[in-house]
Amino acid sequence: MGAKYAKGLKCRECGRNYEKKPVHVCEFCFGPLEVDYDYDAIKKVVSREKIQSRGKNMWRYAEFLPLDGDPVVGLNTGMTPLVRARRLGEELGLKELWIKNDAVNYPTLSFKDRVVSVALSKAKEFGFKTVACATTGNLGNSVASQAVRAGLECYIFMPANLEQGKIIGTSIFGVHVVGISGNYDGVNRLCSEIAGKFGWAFANINLRPFYAEGSKTFGHEICEQLGWKAPKHVIVPMAGGSLICKIDKAIKEFLKTGLIECSDTKIYGAQATGCSPITTAVKNGWELFKPVKPDTIARSIAIGNPADGFYAIKTMRESGGWGEDVTDAELVEGIKLLARTEGIFTETAGGVTVAVTKKLVEQGRIAKDESVVISITGNGLKTTEAVLTAVPRPDVIEAKLSDFEVLVEKIRERDKKAEAVAAG
Ligand SMILES: *Cc1c(COP(=O)(O)O)cnc(C)c1O
Ligand SMILES: [Zn+2]
Repeated sequence: MGAKYAKGLKCRECGRNYEKKPVHVCEFCFGPLEVDYDYDAIKKVVSREKIQSRGKNMWRYAEFLPLDGDPVVGLNTGMTPLVRARRLGEELGLKELWIKNDAVNYPTLSFKDRVVSVALSKAKEFGFKTVACATTGNLGNSVASQAVRAGLECYIFMPANLEQGKIIGTSIFGVHVVGISGNYDGVNRLCSEIAGKFGWAFANINLRPFYAEGSKTFGHEICEQLGWKAPKHVIVPMAGGSLICKIDKAIKEFLKTGLIECSDTKIYGAQATGCSPITTAVKNGWELFKPVKPDTIARSIAIGNPADGFYAIKTMRESGGWGEDVTDAELVEGIKLLARTEGIFTETAGGVTVAVTKKLVEQGRIAKDESVVISITGNGLKTTEAVLTAVPRPDVIEAKLSDFEVLVEKIRERDKKAEAVAAG
């Protein structure tokens, strides 16, 4: 599976080239570095048939990933379901709606398993013994899980006030977990200093160029699963703004290498209003975002100073898409809407994405008969706090048939009333 089509790193601003090494900013202009591929060479070796003949995981796109050898972690990650969402589509008035469901990604139930699979495989290639990350929750879950499997020492740095499910979902792996008071942006700043001083592999700092490439497979899979076609519209939650840029890159590189024939995908970014530096910039027509102090229950995407915010804004604008945000109350409704129509339980970020999609349709930005993909990036079982008071408590009875007969009457009456209310 090893592929050597990544030539090196390239500065996104000044274009200077760097060797493949654990660096992420340009020494000359401080621009971010990105992996640079030889697409002519890739075009000669890839084909739809070849990719389809490979294992059902993200490494079926190995030519587009920056490893020199075979991956050593995350071998089962990716190739999550793309499900046709007829009932949600009906509610939203969309004829061809799809859910790309990374809530069931392997091994830790979020899209972060993709980026970590690449980052830790690369950390092994570079010879690191200790891996780490700054996390809003899901990244920590995945780095911890995959570090344990790879036999790497592991430190996870997170805001101390994350959801229970996210904290336990990291601590359970027996790695070193450090809670930091304050929000993610402080955690990230501290981690940059630690990376410099300790020389560890931080998945989303010094390995960021490699890490970010893993996100592309989310976009690759959407195209393949649509029958080697790019969707007309894709809605993506944004934290640091990396995933949204990489979905765009994935579609463009499939086009460049002949795996899809055309693309006019409009890309939309979703944030919570309580932390919406990127969508605020898009809505105001700014090229640059203003950092904010996060205040939202959508903690996994609560990054006030997004590393790729500038490029995320550009991606939305150039694709003809848009950015929108929703309140915490709206995101909870989004979680419930997806659950009751499609049977998918997503976390707060997914609630944001569903609620933003609803808003975009209401604004008339998405045509009702074109293909739409909603990106579901995380699992609801990790953020149950968000919906604790928004779901009904179970009816409790004795283990007696007569008790149930009484209850069932009550339930039927309740349903009738609810129907009457819904009918107006
Ligand atoms: C990290 C994360 C995102 C977005 O990540 P980017 O930093 O924008 O790439 C989206 N959803 C969930 C659930 C996440 O954990
Ligand atoms: Zn540069």
